[in-house]
Amino acid sequence: MTTPKYLSNTYLDELTVNITRVIEMDDSVAMYCDDTIFYPQGGGQPCDLGVIIIDGSEHRVHHVESTKEGIAHILEAHPSLLTCAKKQCIQRIDIQRRLLNAKSHTAGHLISHILEELDSNLFPAKGHHYPSDSYIEMIETERTNDSYSVDLINDKIDALVESNPIDILAVDLDLAQVKSLRPLLSKLIPQNTQIRVIAIDGFKPVPCGGTHVRCTSELKGLRITRIKRKKDRLKVNYSIN
Ligand SMILES: [Zn+2]
Repeated sequence: MTTPKYLSNTYLDELTVNITRVIEMDDSVAMYCDDTIFYPQGGGQPCDLGVIIIDGSEHRVHHVESTKEGIAHILEAHPSLLTCAKKQCIQRIDIQRRLLNAKSHTAGHLISHILEELDSNLFPAKGHHYPSDSYIEMIETERTNDSYSVDLINDKIDALVESNPIDILAVDLDLAQVKSLRPLLSKLIPQNTQIRVIAIDGFKPVPCGGTHVRCTSELKGLRITRIKRKKDRLKVNYSIN
C-alpha cells in the first residue's frame, strides 16, 4: 500500500480493494488489503469501524491497527476468511463515527492554533480527540501562571466557525520546511523526506496523520468546557457533536 485512501478523502465511506493477506489469531483474523479507508487507531484518534464484504457476506471490523506488516483490519474469525487472500472485497466504514472523529480531531487543531496565536509562549504537546473525552494539552516554553478565559476562546471559535469559516488542507512538506516551522514537534515525528501536515488557512501547519474535515464551518457546536493548569501544561477540554 502506498498512501492509504483515508488520508486523501475523509468523506469516502466505501471502497473496493484487494485482500493481500489474512493472519489467523485466537478468535479473530487480521486482514490486510492493498488500500484502505479504515483509519487505524493512533495519534489520539479512535479507529474506524464498519464491515468488509467478501463474496456478498458481511464481516464486521471491530478494530483497526497499524502493524509492521501494514494496516490490520481485525475481524471475527470465520472459516471462509482463511482462504480469501487475493480476492476482492468491499470496505464500508461507519461514516457517522468517522465524521464525528474527524470533527473532534480537527477541533483539537483549531483550539491549539487559537491558543498559539493568543500566546506565543504556548505550543501543542498532546491531542486526545476521542469524542467522549476530547482534550488538548499545551505546554509553556517558559513557566508562567497565566490564565486563559474559556469565554474568550469560545468567542474566537465562533468567529472562525460561524462568521468567517476557513478551509483546511492536508499537504506534504519537506522535512526541512517542517523543522523550520515546528522545530520542537519535528523532533518527535518519523524523519521521512516528505511530511504530511494539516494546514488550517492562516495558521501555522502542523504534522498530522489523522482525518480532518475540509472547512471550519463543519465544527458548529464546538465548545471549550474547561481549561486547567498543571505546572507548565494547560489541559483544554472541549466537546463537539
Ligand atoms: Zn490532525
